[in-house]
Amino acid sequence: MQTQHHRQTFSFELFPPKTEKGFGNLKKTVQELQNLQPAFFSVTYGAGGSTQQRTFDTVGWLSGEEITVAPHLSCIGAVRNEIIEILERYRSQGIRRLVALRGDLPSGAGLGGPGELDHANQLVALIRDSFGDHFHIEVAAYPEFHPQADSPERDLIHFKRKVEAGANSAITQYFYNADAYFRFIDDCQRLRIDIPIVPGIMPITNFIQLARFSDACGAELPRWLRKRLEGFGDDLPAIRSYGADTVTALCERLLEGGAPGLHFYTMNQATPSLDIWQTLGL
Ligand code: FAD
Repeated sequence: MQTQHHRQTFSFELFPPKTEKGFGNLKKTVQELQNLQPAFFSVTYGAGGSTQQRTFDTVGWLSGEEITVAPHLSCIGAVRNEIIEILERYRSQGIRRLVALRGDLPSGAGLGGPGELDHANQLVALIRDSFGDHFHIEVAAYPEFHPQADSPERDLIHFKRKVEAGANSAITQYFYNADAYFRFIDDCQRLRIDIPIVPGIMPITNFIQLARFSDACGAELPRWLRKRLEGFGDDLPAIRSYGADTVTALCERLLEGGAPGLHFYTMNQATPSLDIWQTLGL
């Protein structure tokens, strides 16, 4: 098993809230997590116009508070000029880090539309061509492979293309099988991919939500975990306690095995990530 030799980076992912109440909750979450001095907060980006505006608003608020923020930006369905305009705005707000993604079209949208970029490697190349080294570019990685991948080997080659196009580091899809991550790192090293690949960590607080979310984004919930969580029925405290133990043990193994940090999918809640962080003694 190979270990990565990069400095560790700890970060938190947020989604842009839909309501005033959600925004109030986000502010509280950010305040609590900011005490931990993470490297950055990232903010997800959706497919629709109003969702995108919420990302811009959330990013604008965070950067106005002088909090280091890394907006996600997806390219599917978008045209180059739009992307460049967004990036110019981010640059003028002092943003130096991005998470560059292909994204997914809303179900039923088909693959037509005006989009000029089909894959994340093209977005990374566009950012580098237009903005040089201004942005630190994160890309997505899939230790258990992307659901649409032709084959594991092709998926790795496509991942390498993003690195060759100029990605500085990667954040993984969440997973609960540490061995899949370590195997992925070995495969990357075999292909001479040498950027930090930070595990994405999804705390477990609610089985039904987690199962629904995993089905939607194609993340793998192993049967042992599904069965255990199902077994707790609607006993939420038991799910939270088992979930915290399981995810903390996963993080411990990842860090001991040389993972270059952790990126928490907070779902805009501070406590589950805070609990794990404190138990890990970070
Ligand atoms: P790509 O790297 O383009 O890969 C997508 C698929 O195409 C893979 O199967 C790959 O093997 C294949 N492929 C890649 N390049 C090529 C090529 N050049 N030729 C042929 N095939 C190729 N989604 C959102 O909508 N908003 C978000 O904010 C968001 N944040 C995310 C954050 C993280 C950390 C992760 C892991 C995912 C996130 N996603 C988000 C989900 C992501 O958009 C989807 O998983 C999407 O399906 C793939 O995006 P990608 O950037 O990995 O795509």
